[in-house]
Amino acid sequence: MSGCRTARCSWSATRRRPWPALDAFTYPELKEAVRFILDDFYLKRGVTTVSDLSTPTAYRAMQDLRKEGRLPTRVRMNYFVRDPKMLDMVEASGVTTGLGDDWLRFGAVKFFADGVWGTTAAVYKPFWNGSGTTWMPNNTGGVNYDQETLNKLVLRAYQAGWQVQVHANGDRAQDMVLTAYEAAQKAAPRKDARLRIEHFAHFLVQDPERTEERLQRMKRSNVIISPQVAFLWRLTDVNVREPDVKFFPMKTIIDRGFRPPGGVDTVGTQNFATYPMFSIARAVNRDTKFGTIVQPEEAISVMDGIRMFTIWSAEANFLEKDFGSIEVGKVADFVVLAQDPLTTPKAKLADIPVDMTILDGKLAYAR
Ligand SMILES: [Zn+2]
Repeated sequence: MSGCRTARCSWSATRRRPWPALDAFTYPELKEAVRFILDDFYLKRGVTTVSDLSTPTAYRAMQDLRKEGRLPTRVRMNYFVRDPKMLDMVEASGVTTGLGDDWLRFGAVKFFADGVWGTTAAVYKPFWNGSGTTWMPNNTGGVNYDQETLNKLVLRAYQAGWQVQVHANGDRAQDMVLTAYEAAQKAAPRKDARLRIEHFAHFLVQDPERTEERLQRMKRSNVIISPQVAFLWRLTDVNVREPDVKFFPMKTIIDRGFRPPGGVDTVGTQNFATYPMFSIARAVNRDTKFGTIVQPEEAISVMDGIRMFTIWSAEANFLEKDFGSIEVGKVADFVVLAQDPLTTPKAKLADIPVDMTILDGKLAYAR
């Protein structure tokens, strides 16, 4: 339910070869596919900057598209790193977070600490029968690294100057990531590291002490919580009965002073979720596609939903100096919606059409 359930995001728990499907494309085909996705799934849905986790070949395609003047959106290129050898290559390149320009910029290094909620995420107490698709008794998931290895990987990427983000769905994995982050910050203090935990989306209220401690550690180290609220939409009526779990408790997170970026985990959440208003509608309405309202006390305002997909996203990606709000001195990127989301009935938020997407003050898409 939470976090990614896609081949892209869960392969580390199940396979040892990333993204095999991409091998089937020729390079020119891949380049056109990248252009199509950025155009159809993002630009036309009002997205001006995509924070991506793609292959080096896809990033090459984006560079070529850019040279041809055909790159539909800005892209922040994050790198997936599995092991010390991949990190060697990243280090040897001499590149770090922030290098690039307004169109293509290097983002974070991403590690995967565990798998997906209900099956392979690393938790302290066994999963509830009903939280996962392939439930097994007494299953507490698993981690991809022991603590020492994770500490070393995180420290290396961090010391090389990278922003670090770690996929950690389960509470046990999240605590390991926090331990690694704290060790890195102790070894080489950096004021504005903006370390992130991806899919930090469920609170286990059956474990209030550990949950509270985790949140306080997150706050102390200024760790960014990166949830994907669109996943709420696909929770089944069995899933939502899971006891002792808060699903995407956005209100609690925001009330505690976190500024979570809006993300979608595109393939995992279903491709229509790339329309930010879809995710904002879920954060506001907390409804599933089966019509169930999930823990309505965690609903947030439309304005906070908009912040998630604009300024808070910019901050989580080190882009807020030039992006994330319409202000004098910033780049003129914005979307024109057919209706005002602040006055549209909440049930209709996801239906608001995109009239225009503006990039650099120029019309990039018109309905
Ligand atoms: Zn992930």
